[in-house]
Amino acid sequence: MNAPSTSHLLPTYARVELAFERGEGVWLTATNGDRYLDFTSGVAVNALGHGHPQLVAAISEQAQKLIHVSNLYRIPEAERLAARLCEASFADLVFFCNSGAEAMECAIKTARKCHAANGQPERFRIITFEGAFHGRTLATLAAGGQKKYLDGFGPVVDGFDQMPFGDLEATKRAIGPASAAILIEPIMGEGGVRVVPHEFLRALRSLCDERGLLLIFDEVQTGVGRTGELFAYQRTGVVPDIMALAKALGGGFPLGACLATAAAGKGMTAGSHGSTFGGNPLAMAAAHAVLDVVLADGFLDHVRRCGLVLKQKLAEIKDRFPSVIAEVRGEGLLVGLRAVVPNGELVDELRAEKLITVAAGDNVVRLLPPLIVSEAEIAEAVRRLERACTRLSERTTRQRGTAG
Ligand SMILES: *Cc1c(COP(=O)(O)O)cnc(C)c1O
Repeated sequence: MNAPSTSHLLPTYARVELAFERGEGVWLTATNGDRYLDFTSGVAVNALGHGHPQLVAAISEQAQKLIHVSNLYRIPEAERLAARLCEASFADLVFFCNSGAEAMECAIKTARKCHAANGQPERFRIITFEGAFHGRTLATLAAGGQKKYLDGFGPVVDGFDQMPFGDLEATKRAIGPASAAILIEPIMGEGGVRVVPHEFLRALRSLCDERGLLLIFDEVQTGVGRTGELFAYQRTGVVPDIMALAKALGGGFPLGACLATAAAGKGMTAGSHGSTFGGNPLAMAAAHAVLDVVLADGFLDHVRRCGLVLKQKLAEIKDRFPSVIAEVRGEGLLVGLRAVVPNGELVDELRAEKLITVAAGDNVVRLLPPLIVSEAEIAEAVRRLERACTRLSERTTRQRGTAG
């Protein structure tokens, strides 16, 4: 590896000694020439895999015409993308930004401002759930409420009330005159691919309707086809008032979006929010290309079929290696393996098999292949998993032998 051993990058990541220099479809090539099967997709970002011809062409063509103009002017391709997103969802209004955390910031501000516009500026508090992840800005960290991310960064931004996961009674009790909204990921990604029961989401919707709160879904990880629907909420029968998107939306080009109904977005008038880069022509070209592919006939059927095939094969592996894998969970191609061994060890063994995966909370290993993955590539990934599990189960047997 030619990577320098010291780096001037702020050391905020515990990086693996591995760098990639090119990719094609589901495959990544490392700087030493090794080929890896990518079941991480840049953490649910590269929905079309690497080097997708439509995405590459769209970005190259747009780059030659116009990369950036400011939001002081109309951006026709942003208006068209907003219209496509609204056409495909519950929403009437869209704000574009550059990341998931920014999309969530806009969602939080939109909910607060809605109540202010309705003459109730005292309603600013948002109910969230333990295990959630909403980003790394000061407000989204407060929303996520994870101590390990908040420690050392001064006073926690006020206005978030965190409930135990799935606790409806606590949620009801927490609603007061200052409550503005309930915020939840329909499937907790970073928290360990925990699927929120649809009946719990339905109960939250009813609570919001009864008590005049807005329901916000963080679909930064679940959105744009990952679960086999364009948006995860479409699988639940529950429709939010506000929704945050990012990750896969630009297919790897940084792009976030906050979607809202006309009623929920009513406070966000001229001057109330902004972003220098948000929704610029290059980002819009990337997102249109992503939507062209994901919304094409049969594409989401392909995601659903591959998700089922993957989960079925994983269930077999789980049954064969109970000392390594405890549970398979998730929807579509957002799949989690709850490990028996430390999840980091499983990720390392899979990487030794040249299969790239990513850890999550609750001792889970996430499998997030590009949505263009083929059934043959899924079979190949499962063979690699099988070899890694064989080694790990032999190791645990040996360790038990030594201990006994
Ligand atoms: C990744 C993620 C975020 C944060 O996105 P960034 O682009 O890293 O700011 C927020 N919410 C969820 C659910 C995520 O998965």
